[in-house]
Amino acid sequence: MDENFHEEQFREITTFTPPLYKQRYQFVKDLVGKYKPKKVADLGCADCTLLWMLKFCRCIEVLAGLDVCESVMKENMYRLSPLPGDYLQPTERSLTVTLHHGSVAHKDPCMLGFDLVTCIELIEHLEESELKKFPEVVFGFMAPSIVVISTPNSGFNPLLPGVTLFRHPDHKFEWNRGQFQSWALEAASRYNYSVEFTGLGHPPTGMENVGFCTQIGVFVRKYPQASGSAHPEKPTEAVYKTVFKAVYPSLKDEKYLQNAVVSEVIFTAQIIKQSLLDHLLAEHEEYNDDPTERKSKFQLSMNFLSEDLRKLVVEKNIEPCVNENVVYIPLKTIFSFPKVNQLCGTFERLCKLITGKVTLSSDGSAVIFNNEHENEEN
Ligand code: SAH
Repeated sequence: MDENFHEEQFREITTFTPPLYKQRYQFVKDLVGKYKPKKVADLGCADCTLLWMLKFCRCIEVLAGLDVCESVMKENMYRLSPLPGDYLQPTERSLTVTLHHGSVAHKDPCMLGFDLVTCIELIEHLEESELKKFPEVVFGFMAPSIVVISTPNSGFNPLLPGVTLFRHPDHKFEWNRGQFQSWALEAASRYNYSVEFTGLGHPPTGMENVGFCTQIGVFVRKYPQASGSAHPEKPTEAVYKTVFKAVYPSLKDEKYLQNAVVSEVIFTAQIIKQSLLDHLLAEHEEYNDDPTERKSKFQLSMNFLSEDLRKLVVEKNIEPCVNENVVYIPLKTIFSFPKVNQLCGTFERLCKLITGKVTLSSDGSAVIFNNEHENEEN
């Protein structure tokens, strides 16, 4: 090491900004942004922080975590549960988050079919026998399109004050760049992956030769997995224990779609009804008035509608009608509103989804409101 390298500089470089663990998570998020995987598994997920960050990536539909330590996973796993807002406004995307208790040294069918597998600061925690099995389990058995592995670069350790042997008491080893790269290249060539090396945490100026503080290998599978090619040797027996599972509400689920459609239909019908009644009232009150003023009253009553809705009510020549205190809002009209249309796709689907949930006219063609009844309630 450079003899002129002073204590001051040591201290400066050991405090990375943002902290290295956050940079590692961001690195994974960037990979997700680049490859848009649908199914992601985090091996050695610990307190689920990375999983929690990944649940906000909209491309991801399946998230799984695995750790050999059940208690550390359970500490914060409820962060992975859906929030009230997720139920109030379900989105199109489906998301299932599952946590498994088990070891990367064992194969379990629940780990098949993933697009991206992340192993952040995991391998240095593995016993020799586990590390030996790791490539076969991850690259051979799980065989995702992408694997990212990060591990400390021991060549950087002399720059970290206080580090004598390893950076953490649970580390079983720490590799320098040559050791990590030859292990990674060997695994990549055996299981038909290409690998690129990078890292996080720059060394200080003049010390570039030590490399990054965290070294990273990004492995990309060379050949696409033949779909439906069930490996005959892949075991079907489950060895991991599922400790947590959350299925997020999604509009792909008929139950949530129906709720969303019913609310939207009632909301839209109410808006149309209100503007219709205001319009009629204005006409009635101003019967003998100057017609231009009457028009301006109608405009005023429409003011509470959004620009789009207002245009629709006027342009689509909506023909809701009031008959003896019953207001009829045709379903066809409601269906022509963008949000309803988008949710249902077809008129037939709209009819099917609201049957029995919304009060309709006897021929089923219109939403009805009994105005008299409503006035009594008020
Ligand atoms: N990936 C996390 C945690 C790293 S610490 C992060 O970046 O913050 C390593 C984690 O690997 C620990 O939670 C430890 O319990 C877990 N671990 C150790 N051996 C394991 C094994 N054989 N299989 C699965 N997880 C293991």
